[in-house]
Amino acid sequence: MPAALALSPHLDDAAFSCGGTLALLAQAGWRVTMATLFTGSVADPKGFALACQTDKGLGPEVDYMALRRDEDRDAARALGIAPPCHMPFREAPHRGYASAPELFAEVRPNDGIVPDLTRALHTLIAETAPDLILAPQAVGGHVDHVQAVRALMDLAPAIPILWWRDFPYTVRDAAPREPLRERFADLPTQIVAFGARAQASKHEACAAYASQLGFQFGGADNLAAQLAREGGVERFRRSGALPDDLARLLDDAG
Ligand SMILES: [Zn+2]
Repeated sequence: MPAALALSPHLDDAAFSCGGTLALLAQAGWRVTMATLFTGSVADPKGFALACQTDKGLGPEVDYMALRRDEDRDAARALGIAPPCHMPFREAPHRGYASAPELFAEVRPNDGIVPDLTRALHTLIAETAPDLILAPQAVGGHVDHVQAVRALMDLAPAIPILWWRDFPYTVRDAAPREPLRERFADLPTQIVAFGARAQASKHEACAAYASQLGFQFGGADNLAAQLAREGGVERFRRSGALPDDLARLLDDAG
């Protein structure tokens, strides 16, 4: 059974950006694992890190990351894929990024997490033995997305990678920040089209991240509207050559 590994920075990114492709692969009999890097719980968050949960109506007593890991398990079920993998790294607000603008500005010079991520990805890839990796392009420029891309590029596994365009950052601004644009400029585009069944799975998976829908989309209704505008299409840059049968599956699915 062929295997795919989706490397999500946060608990929601893979479903939002390539959920249709993951559902499609699962329907075709692939073993699909969604692994999220930044899922570590932090006890007694303070300041901006605490505000990131209280501004979503979740009190300081709530284990915010545990709640989101549960949402992620529901999303994986909706996609028809394996139980997700949760890596223990801390999100940027727990690594010295002290405001919302800082999350989308330059990477802090003392944010030395990339080698740790690279080591963890090495182990994860050895354990899951994927035939295909899916990962972000860091469209929008969130520092956690940027660090995830850097870690995977440093590791440079000899496995084809589909680099997704990070939704909804792709539609929030007419010209979203793309700090790593040059690294993808020479890679070919891969378009994946998928039918109604995978579209429905993607919608259900995205809706599972209930704590994020207001903040990311302005609510569940707007999520549905924005997904409808995307249609059954996800766009990637591709590094490495896809096996013929996979290329056919991804090209013909729509
Ligand atoms: Zn994210």
